[in-house]
Amino acid sequence: VFENVQQAPEDPILGVTVAYNKDPSPSKLNLGVGAYRTEEGKPLVLDVVKRAEQQLVAEKSRNKEYQAITGNQQFNKLSARLILGPDSPAIAKNCVATVQALSGTGALRIGAEFLAAHYAKPQIFLPMPTWGNHNKIFPLGGVSQKPYRYYDPKTRGLDYEGMLEDLKAAPDGAVILLHACAHNPTGVDPTEEQWEGIRKVIRSKNQLPFFDCAYQGFASGSLDKDAYAVRSFVADGGECLISQSFAKNMGLYGERVGALNIVCRSAPVASRVDSQLKLVIRPMYSSPPVHGAAIAAAILEDGNLFKNWTVELKGMADRIISMRHQLYDALQERGTPGDWDHVLKQIGMFTFTGLNKSQVEFMTREYHIYMTSDGRISMAGLSSRTVPHLADAMHAAVVG
Ligand code: PMP
Repeated sequence: VFENVQQAPEDPILGVTVAYNKDPSPSKLNLGVGAYRTEEGKPLVLDVVKRAEQQLVAEKSRNKEYQAITGNQQFNKLSARLILGPDSPAIAKNCVATVQALSGTGALRIGAEFLAAHYAKPQIFLPMPTWGNHNKIFPLGGVSQKPYRYYDPKTRGLDYEGMLEDLKAAPDGAVILLHACAHNPTGVDPTEEQWEGIRKVIRSKNQLPFFDCAYQGFASGSLDKDAYAVRSFVADGGECLISQSFAKNMGLYGERVGALNIVCRSAPVASRVDSQLKLVIRPMYSSPPVHGAAIAAAILEDGNLFKNWTVELKGMADRIISMRHQLYDALQERGTPGDWDHVLKQIGMFTFTGLNKSQVEFMTREYHIYMTSDGRISMAGLSSRTVPHLADAMHAAVVG
């Protein structure tokens, strides 16, 4: 009965790793997936994660019972506090409905399904370009999508005017997806003044912001600084949705730890929203897994672990920033034609190099360097040892 099933293409991002794994070259380099690597090129389990896990194992009373449909309540509370701030009036007034989710992707999907069922205008505007999975999550979740201008390839920066024009032209009440910080794939974020302009347009049109927050702490190294945009939108008293992922900032990728927050105008509304989120989750996967959220909760609630986490997080962010400088310097040394300032200016895990598809193919073929075809490279996958190889490849690709 399945004879007519067609072979599906590889995922454009995860497929990069599949191709990398098949390559026997000793000099191969995977800059496709946004996962942090140490200077030695190894995955990193944070020390605070190991300590939290040891604490959990030592707690004799722990069991493997099902969690509530909305997950670990302590985790939910602390997760909301992390993004909205410890003094958030929205939290104090119980205006926030928070549910544990299967990392950022799961949170986005729950948000989409909730909007499809309960929001009068389930149409979302996505930045152009955006993380490749957004285009699939929202339509499959019942929310149709349209693009808004975001990145300007000429300046390799934000097309601020274009973005505002498109938001103004979008219907009143439309949902607007915003990357909270460290925009993926471009690494281009609005300045604080630009966020203010964006907020004014969105609020003046009663549009509904949906923040995707996958990199809190990774952009600047400061959890609070990276929450700036979200907090400014919550401070004005309006509604918004926020998906959170702990994949990158706690290195909990495979544990699938995340949350969806829906900030409402009052406590009774938040309570009703929470009840409806349960109806979305129950038939999808019934309840979320225990282990990862327990690790995150342990780190978020223990002052000592929390402090150590911020130090480790800053260490990761700083190593990425140092890779930016090393790559920039290596391109300067080689006299690679073009302006490479954006390697320094862009924020977060990725550099949107500006290399085109055929240059990317050349680098993979001749230098065994793997990246997405849009020219995005994960700075977190680089090390001092591999920068010269990448710079050689980029130089050769540009010189032609
Ligand atoms: N949103 C963005 C912008 C991302 O870059 C990612 C991770 N690549 C996610 C969401 C979700 O990732 P996860 O499901 O692993 O938390």
